[in-house]
Amino acid sequence: MSAPTKEQKVKSVLTVYRNRDPVYGYRYVADPYSGCSQGCTYCPQQDQTVEISINAAEVLSRQLAKKPRETVGIGDKCDPYMTLEKHYLITHDLLQVLVVQGFPVHIVTRSTLVLRDRKILQEIATKSMAAVTFKFCSPSISVAKHLEPNAPSPIKRFSALSSLASKGITCGISISPILPFIGDDQKSLKQLVLAAKESGASYVLRAPLTLPSKLDKVFYAFLEKNYRELIQPYRFLYGKEGRVPESYWRPIDEMIETLAREQGLCTEAPYWTEVQSKQLSLF
Ligand code: SF4
Repeated sequence: MSAPTKEQKVKSVLTVYRNRDPVYGYRYVADPYSGCSQGCTYCPQQDQTVEISINAAEVLSRQLAKKPRETVGIGDKCDPYMTLEKHYLITHDLLQVLVVQGFPVHIVTRSTLVLRDRKILQEIATKSMAAVTFKFCSPSISVAKHLEPNAPSPIKRFSALSSLASKGITCGISISPILPFIGDDQKSLKQLVLAAKESGASYVLRAPLTLPSKLDKVFYAFLEKNYRELIQPYRFLYGKEGRVPESYWRPIDEMIETLAREQGLCTEAPYWTEVQSKQLSLF
């Protein structure tokens, strides 16, 4: 079932965070859509009306004009390559703005449609940095199909990653969200890290599933239907906070860190700023 959509003109498309995102590292965010039509079972954006910012490129061009150049994240609260993008090309137009104004980009997606924009990404990469992070919740085709019904299979995502990496675009994976008792076993995590390495990724990021109150009901309905035996363990683990405790997360976090380092992969997001780049060029 596809989400309802609404076209709108926005006054602002750029968000500037005070601090860098703890997982993806960017401070500037420019999302082409608000909401997402991909319908992942664990996502607070599912079932919301997707608002399509039809004038996003024009507004971004104006907003970036006086900003110092640093990495712009695309795909913070939506998938910028959801099916709608085939028709609207808003992500494509945002990238054109970044090329013209000389800004680096970090795209976060589960979709292979990003391949369509490889030439623009290559152009950005020659001037500063173009990074693409593919997200995965499991290496298993059937588990991924269950949880992310409208996203391409993990195999197709790795193949897209490989294609972009071979063209000089910085690529990595984010194992996110990690679902307790479904996608947190060592075998699955290792499979993802090895596939990332084989495909040409240079980094591995990760984040656990959170259950904000607006998602709670939908997610437990999903568990009831598909993983009934996990309802109690989830209630116990997530409590009222909607977050996993540190005692659960730390060993998983460390395991991924070790697996990634064994493969020579970085565990931090790529990042580019004009200031940093000028400093480096002095040495
Ligand atoms: S693709 Fe991303 S933003 Fe869209 S529903 Fe899935 S998790 Fe949410």
